[in-house]
Amino acid sequence: MIAPRTVSVFGATGSVGTSTLDLIAREPEAFEVLAVTAGDDVDKLAAIAVTHRARRAVIANESRYGALKAALAGSGIEAAAGGEALIEAAQMGADWTMAAIVGCAGLAPTLAAVAGGKTVALANKEALVSAGDVMMAAVARSGAALLPVDSEHNAIFQCLASGGLDAVRKITLTASGGPFRTLSREAMRAVTPAQAVKHPNWSMGRKISIDSATMMNKGLELIEAYHLFPIGLERFSILVHPQSVIHSMVEYRDRSTIAQLGCPDMRIPIASALAWPQRMETPCEPLDLATLGRLDFEAPDEERFPALRLAREAIQAGGGAPAILNAANEIAVGAFLDGRIGFLDIGRIVEDVLARSDAGRIATLEDVQAIDRSARAMAEQLTAELIN
Ligand code: NDP
Repeated sequence: MIAPRTVSVFGATGSVGTSTLDLIAREPEAFEVLAVTAGDDVDKLAAIAVTHRARRAVIANESRYGALKAALAGSGIEAAAGGEALIEAAQMGADWTMAAIVGCAGLAPTLAAVAGGKTVALANKEALVSAGDVMMAAVARSGAALLPVDSEHNAIFQCLASGGLDAVRKITLTASGGPFRTLSREAMRAVTPAQAVKHPNWSMGRKISIDSATMMNKGLELIEAYHLFPIGLERFSILVHPQSVIHSMVEYRDRSTIAQLGCPDMRIPIASALAWPQRMETPCEPLDLATLGRLDFEAPDEERFPALRLAREAIQAGGGAPAILNAANEIAVGAFLDGRIGFLDIGRIVEDVLARSDAGRIATLEDVQAIDRSARAMAEQLTAELIN
C-alpha cells in the first residue's frame, strides 16, 4: 500500500496529465486530489475535477472562467482562472504535484510548487530548459524533491540509485529518432503536420510530437539532463534507439552500465514518480524481449537534425540562451502546426533567433520571462518574414 498523499495535477487535460490521473484513480485510498488545471478545455477539466473529486479546478484562460464556474455549479468544487490562480493552486500544499503544462507557460506554477518544498514530478521540460539555474536554486532552497518524469530522465534517476552521481563516467540519453529518422533533408521539406505528429512509439501531445520529429525534443532533454544531473556537458551522449525500450543508461567509473527498460508507455515513469520512493502496480504491458527479438542502435545525424547541435551550443553560451532556444522553438512549432511555415523552417527560425539574441544573464524568474518574451517576439517576426 502506498503511503497516502495529497496530489495536484497541472496540465490535467493533456497526455501526461491524463495518464497521471489514470494511475491516481487506480489507488483511490492513497491519493486525494487537491487541484487540477488546464489551459482552455473547460469541459474536459470540469469532467476531470468531478471524476477525481478535486478540491479546485483552474483554467489558465481567464475568459473561460464563467464557463468553468457554470460547469462546476453545484459540485462543491472551487473554480478559478488565470495565471495568479495557477500559482495559488500550486501553493495549496499538495504533497505531490505533477507539472505537466506544456511550454514555458508552466514555469511560474512549477516554481511555486517547488517553493513549497514538497515533491514535484516534472514533465514540463520547457520550464527547466528556460530557467535551469533558477529552478535548481529554488529546489536547493526549498528542499523539494524534483522527480523527473520524462522517460529518459526518469530512467537515469532510477539508474543512479545503484551508484550515485559522483561515480558516474557517462550518461547516455536514448532517442527514438522520431517519425523522420530515415528521411533525407530534402524529403523533410515537404512533410505535413499530420505526418510529423505521428510518433512511431509514443502517444503524446502535439507540441512534443513535433519536437520529436525535429529531434529538438532530445536537445531540450539534453539541457534538462545537464541541470538535473550535473556531471558536465561533455559526459552526456545521445544514442538513437528506434524501439524506445531502453530509456537511458548510466555508465559508472568501474565500467558497469546500468540501463532502465520498459515498454514505451508514459504511465511507467509517471508511476515511478507517483509512488516514489515506493513502487505501484500499473496496467502497462510487460516487456517481452523474446518477442521483440532485437534492439537497434545508431549515432544521431546532426546534419539532418541540427536541433541537437543548437541545444549543445545554447548550453555552452549559457545565460538566457536555452530560454531563447525554447521560446523560438515554441513559436516555430506553433507556426508549423498552424500550417504557416514548413518543417525545416522550425530549425531555421530557432537558429536565427539564437544568433541575433544576446544571451544575457539570468538570475530571477523575471529575467527568464523577459528573455522569453523578446525571443518570442523575434521568432514571430522571422515567421512573418518567411511567410511574406
Ligand atoms: P498536451 O498538449 O497533451 O497537454 C498540455 C497541457 O497543458 C494541457 O492540460 C493543456 O490544457 C495545458 N496548457 C496548454 N497551454 C497552457 C497554458 N498557456 N497555461 C496553462 N496550461 C496550459 O502536452 P503533453 O501532456 O504531451 O506534455 C506536457 C509536458 O510534458 C510537456 O512539457 C512535454 O514536453 C512533457 N512530456 C510529455 C510526454 C508525453 O508523453 N506526452 C513525455 C515526456 C515529457 P488544454 O488541454 O486546455 O489545452
